[in-house]
Amino acid sequence: MSDSALKAMKEAAQGAAPGARPLAGRHAIVTGGGSGIGAAIADALAARGAKLTLMGRDPRRIEAKAGEFTTAHDVEAIAEACDVTDADRVIAAFAAAAARLGPADILIANAGAAESAPLERTDAALWHAMLAVNLTGAFQCIRVAVPSMRAAGWGRVVTVASTAGLKGYPYVSAYCAAKHGLVGLTRALAAELAATGVTVNAVCPSYTDTDLVTRSAAKIAGKTGGSPEEMRAAFAKTVPLGRLIAPEEVAAAVAWLCLDEAAGVTGVALPIAGGEV
Ligand code: NAD
Repeated sequence: MSDSALKAMKEAAQGAAPGARPLAGRHAIVTGGGSGIGAAIADALAARGAKLTLMGRDPRRIEAKAGEFTTAHDVEAIAEACDVTDADRVIAAFAAAAARLGPADILIANAGAAESAPLERTDAALWHAMLAVNLTGAFQCIRVAVPSMRAAGWGRVVTVASTAGLKGYPYVSAYCAAKHGLVGLTRALAAELAATGVTVNAVCPSYTDTDLVTRSAAKIAGKTGGSPEEMRAAFAKTVPLGRLIAPEEVAAAVAWLCLDEAAGVTGVALPIAGGEV
């Protein structure tokens, strides 16, 4: 795809139709919303009129992003510092967000991290860290967010899983296990909440052009003696589409799952994977 075609695709994926604000009045909480896929999702939801709370560990980064979205989309956007692995902090951050913008109508459980290691070097600390952020963190946020959605008879939960939640990759056993768990959690809650007006879906991107992939490419390059650019190209080659997925492409799918018109879709694990699965 040429650079100009890719740019046009990203703009089309990111932008709601001018003047269309189908999520106006809805409050969306996006964890890990200060960067990468989370920031692209927050941008897409705000473009469709949603009020935003960005949650993340770095208050300065999420405050700056919230300011950007307020200016770009004329919506209320706030930041709440929150490490999703800290259950007490999750409860406090969701309460603070609800006090300012009302209870969450939409939760995007996006915060995550991917550390790689072969089995022999996957120690208990790495194992627990991957499960804590990618699986338990999402569970804690969903558990706090769902009661008010259920009471309102309307809600949208989207988890950001991965193709690593649908298939195995070498050297990321803990990450793969956590993301498979996240897909299982999503499907179970979709079944449990199906008659309540609350949908629960997962998106499963393959390699996506964010800092996470840049960091992984640099780490593997450091170990193998290749260049980060070569590693990024190797990642892109695993996607049959022939390029990394753009964060805006993931965001467009998530934004659609949050619309009223997606009410009949729950329990899916949607690959955004260019034909990989
Ligand atoms: P990223 O590193 O830019 O984003 C991850 C975000 O999560 C960051 O903002 C980070 O600060 C936040 N975060 C991490 N640990 C946290 C914690 N304990 N509490 C709160 N926030 C925390 O990378 P990204 O690619 O945008 O990743 C977003 C999600 O997408 C992750 O769940 C990741 O596993 C998933 N994903 C990424 C790819 C990819 O190739 N980039 C592919 C599939 C899935």
